[in-house]
Amino acid sequence: MAGGHVYLDRLSTHGHMVGLCKAIDDCLAAERGRTQRDEPDPAPPSQAPGPAPQQRPEPSQPSPPRPQATRPNGRQDFEIAVVCALTLEADAVDALFDHHWDDDGPPYDKAPGDPNAYSTGAIGRHNVVLAHMPGMGKANAAAVAVNCRSSFPNIKLAVVVGICGAVPFTHDGVEIVLGDVVVSDGVVQYDFGRSLPEGFVQKDTLLDSLGRPNTEIRALLAKLKGIRHRQALRSRMADYLKSLRTEPELAAAYPGTAHDRLFEAAYRHVRDGMSCDECNCNGPLVSRNRLVEDAPKPAVHFGLIASGDTVMKSGVDRDRIARQKDIVGFEMESAGVWDSFPCIVIKGACDYADSHKSKGWQRYAAATAAACMKAFLNHWVPH
Ligand SMILES: [Zn+2]
Repeated sequence: MAGGHVYLDRLSTHGHMVGLCKAIDDCLAAERGRTQRDEPDPAPPSQAPGPAPQQRPEPSQPSPPRPQATRPNGRQDFEIAVVCALTLEADAVDALFDHHWDDDGPPYDKAPGDPNAYSTGAIGRHNVVLAHMPGMGKANAAAVAVNCRSSFPNIKLAVVVGICGAVPFTHDGVEIVLGDVVVSDGVVQYDFGRSLPEGFVQKDTLLDSLGRPNTEIRALLAKLKGIRHRQALRSRMADYLKSLRTEPELAAAYPGTAHDRLFEAAYRHVRDGMSCDECNCNGPLVSRNRLVEDAPKPAVHFGLIASGDTVMKSGVDRDRIARQKDIVGFEMESAGVWDSFPCIVIKGACDYADSHKSKGWQRYAAATAAACMKAFLNHWVPH
Protein backbone atom coordinates (compact mmCIF):
# COMPACT_ATOMS: atom_id res chain seq x y z
CA MET A 1 0.00 0.00 0.00
CA ALA A 2 1.71 3.13 -1.15
CA GLY A 3 1.72 5.76 1.53
CA GLY A 4 0.89 3.35 4.33
CA HIS A 5 3.96 4.31 6.29
CA VAL A 6 3.01 7.94 6.03
CA TYR A 7 -0.32 7.29 7.65
CA LEU A 8 1.21 5.04 10.26
CA ASP A 9 3.79 7.61 11.22
CA ARG A 10 1.19 10.31 11.54
CA LEU A 11 -1.25 8.28 13.53
CA SER A 12 1.52 6.90 15.73
CA THR A 13 1.90 10.34 17.22
CA HIS A 14 -1.53 9.80 18.78
CA GLY A 15 -0.25 7.01 20.91
CA HIS A 16 -0.57 4.01 18.65
CA MET A 17 3.04 2.99 18.86
CA VAL A 18 3.55 -0.67 18.76
CA GLY A 19 5.92 -0.55 21.73
CA LEU A 20 3.07 0.39 24.00
CA CYS A 21 1.02 -2.62 23.02
CA LYS A 22 2.20 -5.13 25.53
CA ALA A 23 1.41 -3.11 28.62
CA ILE A 24 -1.88 -1.92 27.19
CA ASP A 25 -2.88 -5.42 26.18
CA ASP A 26 -2.28 -6.60 29.74
CA CYS A 27 -4.48 -3.84 31.14
CA LEU A 28 -7.16 -4.52 28.60
CA ALA A 29 -7.15 -8.25 29.20
CA ALA A 30 -7.85 -7.55 32.86
CA GLU A 31 -10.67 -5.21 31.96
CA ARG A 32 -12.11 -7.57 29.38
CA GLY A 33 -12.12 -10.31 31.96
CA ARG A 34 -14.15 -8.10 34.28
CA THR A 35 -16.97 -7.60 31.83
CA GLN A 36 -17.56 -8.18 28.12
CA ARG A 37 -20.52 -5.83 27.99
CA ASP A 38 -18.80 -2.65 29.04
CA GLU A 39 -16.00 -2.08 26.59
CA PRO A 40 -13.83 1.02 26.97
CA ASP A 41 -15.48 4.19 25.76
CA PRO A 42 -13.94 7.36 24.51
CA ALA A 43 -15.91 9.41 27.04
CA PRO A 44 -16.13 8.90 30.81
CA PRO A 45 -19.48 7.84 32.24
CA SER A 46 -22.02 10.53 32.97
CA GLN A 47 -23.12 11.03 36.56
CA ALA A 48 -25.79 13.61 35.88
CA PRO A 49 -29.43 12.72 35.31
CA GLY A 50 -31.26 14.09 32.27
CA PRO A 51 -29.52 15.13 29.05
CA ALA A 52 -25.92 13.97 28.90
CA PRO A 53 -23.26 16.70 29.02
CA GLN A 54 -20.94 17.41 26.12
CA GLN A 55 -17.93 15.18 26.60
CA ARG A 56 -15.76 15.66 23.59
CA PRO A 57 -12.01 15.25 23.84
CA GLU A 58 -9.99 18.39 23.27
CA PRO A 59 -8.77 18.23 19.69
CA SER A 60 -5.39 19.66 20.71
CA GLN A 61 -4.72 16.78 23.11
CA PRO A 62 -3.48 13.43 21.87
CA SER A 63 -5.93 10.57 22.17
CA PRO A 64 -5.34 8.30 25.15
CA PRO A 65 -3.43 5.13 24.31
CA ARG A 66 -5.80 2.49 23.00
CA PRO A 67 -5.23 -1.22 22.71
CA GLN A 68 -3.69 -2.48 19.51
CA ALA A 69 -3.94 -5.67 17.57
CA THR A 70 -1.00 -8.04 17.37
CA ARG A 71 0.17 -9.52 14.11
CA PRO A 72 -2.11 -12.45 13.18
CA ASN A 73 -0.65 -15.91 12.73
CA GLY A 74 -2.69 -16.47 9.62
CA ARG A 75 -5.85 -15.55 7.75
CA GLN A 76 -7.92 -17.43 10.32
CA ASP A 77 -7.11 -14.71 12.88
CA PHE A 78 -8.95 -11.94 11.03
CA GLU A 79 -12.44 -11.25 12.42
CA ILE A 80 -13.37 -7.98 10.67
CA ALA A 81 -13.83 -7.51 6.92
CA VAL A 82 -14.38 -4.09 5.36
CA VAL A 83 -15.94 -4.09 1.90
CA CYS A 84 -15.61 -1.08 -0.41
CA ALA A 85 -16.98 -0.78 -3.95
CA LEU A 86 -14.95 2.22 -5.11
CA THR A 87 -11.26 2.98 -4.89
CA LEU A 88 -11.98 6.37 -3.34
CA GLU A 89 -13.94 4.60 -0.58
CA ALA A 90 -11.11 2.12 0.04
CA ASP A 91 -8.56 4.96 0.04
CA ALA A 92 -10.31 6.63 2.98
CA VAL A 93 -10.56 3.34 4.93
CA ASP A 94 -6.95 2.47 4.14
CA ALA A 95 -5.77 5.82 5.46
CA LEU A 96 -7.34 5.08 8.85
CA PHE A 97 -5.55 1.76 9.36
CA ASP A 98 -3.24 2.04 12.36
CA HIS A 99 -0.93 -0.48 10.79
CA HIS A 100 -0.59 -2.29 7.48
CA TRP A 101 0.49 -5.89 7.92
CA ASP A 102 1.25 -6.03 4.20
CA ASP A 103 4.14 -3.62 4.77
CA ASP A 104 6.24 -5.46 7.33
CA GLY A 105 5.93 -9.20 6.98
CA PRO A 106 5.01 -12.03 4.68
CA PRO A 107 1.68 -11.42 2.96
CA TYR A 108 -1.40 -13.33 4.05
CA ASP A 109 -2.32 -14.09 0.46
CA LYS A 110 -5.68 -15.76 -0.11
CA ALA A 111 -7.27 -19.15 -0.65
CA PRO A 112 -6.69 -20.87 -4.02
CA GLY A 113 -9.33 -19.78 -6.52
CA ASP A 114 -10.25 -16.57 -4.67
CA PRO A 115 -10.06 -13.73 -7.24
CA ASN A 116 -10.46 -10.93 -4.67
CA ALA A 117 -7.80 -8.36 -3.85
CA TYR A 118 -7.17 -7.63 -0.17
CA SER A 119 -5.29 -5.26 2.08
CA THR A 120 -4.62 -6.43 5.62
CA GLY A 121 -3.91 -4.37 8.68
CA ALA A 122 -5.03 -3.29 12.11
CA ILE A 123 -7.59 -0.76 13.25
CA GLY A 124 -7.42 -0.31 17.00
CA ARG A 125 -7.43 -3.75 18.56
CA HIS A 126 -8.89 -5.44 15.48
CA ASN A 127 -7.16 -7.21 12.66
CA VAL A 128 -9.00 -6.06 9.56
CA VAL A 129 -9.04 -7.27 5.98
CA LEU A 130 -10.12 -4.71 3.40
CA ALA A 131 -11.75 -6.35 0.38
CA HIS A 132 -11.57 -4.35 -2.84
CA MET A 133 -14.47 -4.85 -5.23
CA PRO A 134 -13.95 -4.99 -9.01
CA GLY A 135 -17.00 -2.77 -9.51
CA MET A 136 -20.23 -1.52 -7.99
CA GLY A 137 -23.44 -3.42 -7.43
CA LYS A 138 -24.97 -6.32 -5.57
CA ALA A 139 -23.59 -9.09 -7.80
CA ASN A 140 -20.02 -7.89 -7.38
CA ALA A 141 -20.53 -7.48 -3.64
CA ALA A 142 -22.01 -10.96 -3.26
CA ALA A 143 -19.12 -12.57 -5.13
CA VAL A 144 -16.56 -10.65 -3.10
CA ALA A 145 -18.24 -11.66 0.17
CA VAL A 146 -18.44 -15.36 -0.71
CA ASN A 147 -14.80 -15.48 -1.78
CA CYS A 148 -13.70 -13.47 1.23
CA ARG A 149 -15.28 -16.05 3.47
CA SER A 150 -13.28 -18.82 1.83
CA SER A 151 -9.99 -16.99 2.44
CA PHE A 152 -10.85 -15.55 5.86
CA PRO A 153 -13.04 -18.19 7.50
CA ASN A 154 -13.46 -16.54 10.90
CA ILE A 155 -14.90 -13.16 9.91
CA LYS A 156 -17.41 -12.17 12.60
CA LEU A 157 -18.41 -8.82 11.14
CA ALA A 158 -18.41 -7.33 7.65
CA VAL A 159 -18.63 -3.57 7.39
CA VAL A 160 -19.76 -2.19 4.04
CA VAL A 161 -18.22 1.28 3.94
CA GLY A 162 -18.58 4.01 1.35
CA ILE A 163 -20.97 6.52 -0.13
CA CYS A 164 -24.73 6.56 -0.65
CA GLY A 165 -27.64 8.68 -1.70
CA ALA A 166 -29.35 10.13 1.36
CA VAL A 167 -33.01 10.55 2.19
CA PRO A 168 -33.12 14.27 3.13
CA PHE A 169 -35.38 13.78 6.15
CA THR A 170 -35.73 10.71 8.35
CA HIS A 171 -39.09 9.25 9.34
CA ASP A 172 -38.96 11.46 12.43
CA GLY A 173 -38.28 14.60 10.38
CA VAL A 174 -34.58 14.80 11.29
CA GLU A 175 -32.49 16.47 8.58
CA ILE A 176 -29.80 14.47 6.82
CA VAL A 177 -27.30 16.76 5.07
CA LEU A 178 -24.47 15.84 2.73
CA GLY A 179 -21.53 14.34 4.61
CA ASP A 180 -23.72 12.87 7.35
CA VAL A 181 -23.34 9.14 7.86
CA VAL A 182 -26.10 6.53 7.84
CA VAL A 183 -25.71 3.28 9.77
CA SER A 184 -27.87 0.27 8.97
CA ASP A 185 -30.53 -1.11 11.28
CA GLY A 186 -31.22 -3.45 8.40
CA VAL A 187 -31.15 -3.64 4.62
CA VAL A 188 -34.14 -3.63 2.27
CA GLN A 189 -33.95 -4.76 -1.36
CA TYR A 190 -36.35 -2.14 -2.63
CA ASP A 191 -36.24 -3.22 -6.29
CA PHE A 192 -36.81 -6.92 -5.69
CA GLY A 193 -40.32 -7.89 -6.73
CA ARG A 194 -42.72 -8.06 -9.66
CA SER A 195 -43.69 -5.52 -12.27
CA LEU A 196 -47.47 -5.86 -12.51
CA PRO A 197 -49.91 -3.88 -14.70
CA GLU A 198 -50.91 -1.81 -11.67
CA GLY A 199 -47.27 -1.07 -10.85
CA PHE A 200 -44.25 -2.52 -9.12
CA VAL A 201 -44.92 -4.77 -6.13
CA GLN A 202 -42.04 -5.29 -3.75
CA LYS A 203 -41.57 -8.85 -2.49
CA ASP A 204 -41.73 -8.49 1.23
CA THR A 205 -42.42 -11.88 2.75
CA LEU A 206 -40.22 -13.31 5.48
CA LEU A 207 -38.39 -15.57 3.03
CA ASP A 208 -37.73 -12.75 0.57
CA SER A 209 -36.47 -10.14 2.98
CA LEU A 210 -32.89 -9.86 4.14
CA GLY A 211 -33.86 -9.76 7.79
CA ARG A 212 -32.44 -7.92 10.72
CA PRO A 213 -28.87 -8.02 12.02
CA ASN A 214 -27.89 -10.65 14.57
CA THR A 215 -28.39 -10.07 18.27
CA GLU A 216 -24.81 -8.92 18.90
CA ILE A 217 -25.04 -6.20 16.25
CA ARG A 218 -28.53 -5.19 17.34
CA ALA A 219 -27.42 -4.86 20.95
CA LEU A 220 -24.45 -2.68 20.00
CA LEU A 221 -26.63 -0.50 17.78
CA ALA A 222 -29.09 -0.06 20.64
CA LYS A 223 -26.23 1.12 22.83
CA LEU A 224 -24.82 3.49 20.22
CA LYS A 225 -28.22 5.10 19.69
CA GLY A 226 -28.19 6.30 23.28
CA ILE A 227 -27.37 9.97 23.81
CA ARG A 228 -23.95 9.58 25.43
CA HIS A 229 -22.63 6.95 23.05
CA ARG A 230 -24.01 8.70 20.00
CA GLN A 231 -22.22 11.88 21.06
CA ALA A 232 -19.03 9.93 21.70
CA LEU A 233 -19.29 8.23 18.30
CA ARG A 234 -19.76 11.57 16.58
CA SER A 235 -16.90 13.17 18.46
CA ARG A 236 -14.50 10.32 17.73
CA MET A 237 -15.61 10.37 14.10
CA ALA A 238 -14.76 14.09 13.90
CA ASP A 239 -11.25 13.35 15.20
CA TYR A 240 -10.64 10.71 12.54
CA LEU A 241 -12.10 12.92 9.84
CA LYS A 242 -9.70 15.65 10.90
CA SER A 243 -6.75 13.33 10.39
CA LEU A 244 -8.04 12.32 6.94
CA ARG A 245 -8.26 15.95 5.94
CA THR A 246 -4.51 16.31 6.46
CA GLU A 247 -3.92 13.99 3.50
CA PRO A 248 -4.09 16.19 0.37
CA GLU A 249 -4.43 13.22 -1.97
CA LEU A 250 -7.66 12.15 -0.31
CA ALA A 251 -9.23 15.54 -1.13
CA ALA A 252 -11.52 15.09 1.85
CA ALA A 253 -12.22 18.78 2.48
CA TYR A 254 -15.80 19.89 3.19
CA PRO A 255 -17.10 21.20 -0.17
CA GLY A 256 -19.12 24.04 1.39
CA THR A 257 -22.74 24.62 2.34
CA ALA A 258 -23.36 26.53 -0.90
CA HIS A 259 -22.92 23.25 -2.77
CA ASP A 260 -25.34 21.32 -0.56
CA ARG A 261 -28.57 22.09 -2.39
CA LEU A 262 -31.75 20.09 -1.94
CA PHE A 263 -34.28 20.75 -4.70
CA GLU A 264 -37.94 19.97 -4.14
CA ALA A 265 -38.50 16.32 -5.01
CA ALA A 266 -40.59 17.00 -8.13
CA TYR A 267 -38.10 19.47 -9.69
CA ARG A 268 -36.12 17.55 -12.31
CA HIS A 269 -32.53 18.18 -13.34
CA VAL A 270 -32.43 20.21 -16.57
CA ARG A 271 -29.90 18.23 -18.61
CA ASP A 272 -28.12 14.92 -18.04
CA GLY A 273 -24.36 14.97 -18.26
CA MET A 274 -24.07 18.57 -17.05
CA SER A 275 -23.82 19.94 -13.53
CA CYS A 276 -26.71 21.89 -12.01
CA ASP A 277 -24.72 25.10 -12.44
CA GLU A 278 -23.90 24.36 -16.08
CA CYS A 279 -27.49 23.64 -17.07
CA ASN A 280 -28.91 26.28 -14.76
CA CYS A 281 -31.10 24.24 -12.40
CA ASN A 282 -32.95 26.98 -10.55
CA GLY A 283 -35.99 25.22 -9.11
CA PRO A 284 -37.30 25.71 -5.60
CA LEU A 285 -34.92 24.67 -2.84
CA VAL A 286 -35.85 23.06 0.46
CA SER A 287 -34.47 25.03 3.40
CA ARG A 288 -32.03 23.20 5.65
CA ASN A 289 -31.58 24.32 9.24
CA ARG A 290 -28.22 22.67 9.77
CA LEU A 291 -26.64 24.47 6.86
CA VAL A 292 -26.64 27.78 8.72
CA GLU A 293 -23.31 26.61 10.15
CA ASP A 294 -20.26 27.09 7.90
CA ALA A 295 -19.34 23.41 7.96
CA PRO A 296 -21.82 21.34 9.94
CA LYS A 297 -20.25 18.54 11.93
CA PRO A 298 -21.31 15.23 10.36
CA ALA A 299 -24.15 13.51 12.22
CA VAL A 300 -24.87 9.78 12.42
CA HIS A 301 -28.35 8.47 11.55
CA PHE A 302 -29.54 4.94 12.19
CA GLY A 303 -32.17 3.37 9.94
CA LEU A 304 -32.84 1.04 7.07
CA ILE A 305 -30.61 1.09 4.00
CA ALA A 306 -32.40 0.58 0.69
CA SER A 307 -30.19 -1.52 -1.57
CA GLY A 308 -30.89 -1.99 -5.26
CA ASP A 309 -29.39 -2.89 -8.60
CA THR A 310 -30.04 0.50 -10.13
CA VAL A 311 -28.92 3.96 -9.15
CA MET A 312 -31.72 5.92 -7.47
CA LYS A 313 -31.97 9.23 -9.35
CA SER A 314 -35.51 10.37 -8.63
CA GLY A 315 -36.59 12.57 -5.75
CA VAL A 316 -40.21 11.47 -6.08
CA ASP A 317 -39.39 7.73 -6.09
CA ARG A 318 -36.89 8.29 -3.28
CA ASP A 319 -39.53 9.85 -1.07
CA ARG A 320 -42.18 7.28 -1.99
CA ILE A 321 -39.94 4.34 -1.10
CA ALA A 322 -38.51 6.01 1.98
CA ARG A 323 -42.02 6.73 3.27
CA GLN A 324 -42.93 3.04 3.21
CA LYS A 325 -40.19 2.17 5.66
CA ASP A 326 -37.74 3.94 7.93
CA ILE A 327 -35.20 4.31 5.12
CA VAL A 328 -32.28 6.72 5.46
CA GLY A 329 -30.18 5.98 2.37
CA PHE A 330 -29.93 4.28 -1.02
CA GLU A 331 -26.97 2.24 -2.22
CA MET A 332 -26.09 -0.80 -4.33
CA GLU A 333 -23.82 -3.20 -2.46
CA SER A 334 -25.01 -4.22 0.97
CA ALA A 335 -27.72 -6.65 -0.22
CA GLY A 336 -24.90 -8.67 -1.78
CA VAL A 337 -22.87 -8.88 1.43
CA TRP A 338 -25.78 -9.40 3.82
CA ASP A 339 -26.31 -13.08 3.07
CA SER A 340 -22.66 -14.03 3.60
CA PHE A 341 -21.69 -12.23 6.80
CA PRO A 342 -23.11 -10.59 9.89
CA CYS A 343 -23.11 -7.14 8.39
CA ILE A 344 -23.28 -3.45 9.15
CA VAL A 345 -23.50 -0.74 6.51
CA ILE A 346 -21.82 2.61 7.16
CA LYS A 347 -22.23 5.10 4.33
CA GLY A 348 -21.63 8.81 3.87
CA ALA A 349 -24.28 10.89 2.12
CA CYS A 350 -22.81 12.18 -1.14
CA ASP A 351 -26.08 13.19 -2.84
CA TYR A 352 -29.84 13.17 -2.31
CA ALA A 353 -30.60 10.23 -4.65
CA ASP A 354 -32.34 12.60 -7.08
CA SER A 355 -31.73 13.63 -10.67
CA HIS A 356 -29.36 16.43 -9.55
CA LYS A 357 -26.81 14.02 -8.10
CA SER A 358 -23.18 14.75 -8.93
CA LYS A 359 -19.80 13.47 -7.82
CA GLY A 360 -18.72 16.63 -6.02
CA TRP A 361 -19.29 15.26 -2.53
CA GLN A 362 -18.01 11.71 -3.01
CA ARG A 363 -14.57 12.11 -1.45
CA TYR A 364 -15.79 14.02 1.59
CA ALA A 365 -18.62 11.51 2.13
CA ALA A 366 -16.21 8.58 1.74
CA ALA A 367 -14.03 10.18 4.42
CA THR A 368 -16.89 10.72 6.89
CA ALA A 369 -18.01 7.11 6.38
CA ALA A 370 -14.51 5.75 6.96
CA ALA A 371 -14.16 7.92 10.07
CA CYS A 372 -17.47 6.60 11.38
CA MET A 373 -16.37 3.02 10.63
CA LYS A 374 -13.26 3.44 12.76
CA ALA A 375 -15.24 5.07 15.57
CA PHE A 376 -17.74 2.20 15.39
CA LEU A 377 -15.00 -0.44 15.60
CA ASN A 378 -13.84 1.13 18.87
CA HIS A 379 -17.03 -0.29 20.34
CA TRP A 380 -16.85 -3.74 18.78
CA VAL A 381 -15.50 -6.38 21.17
CA PRO A 382 -13.19 -9.00 19.64
CA HIS A 383 -14.36 -12.60 20.01
ZN1 LIG B 1 -29.79 19.86 -11.33
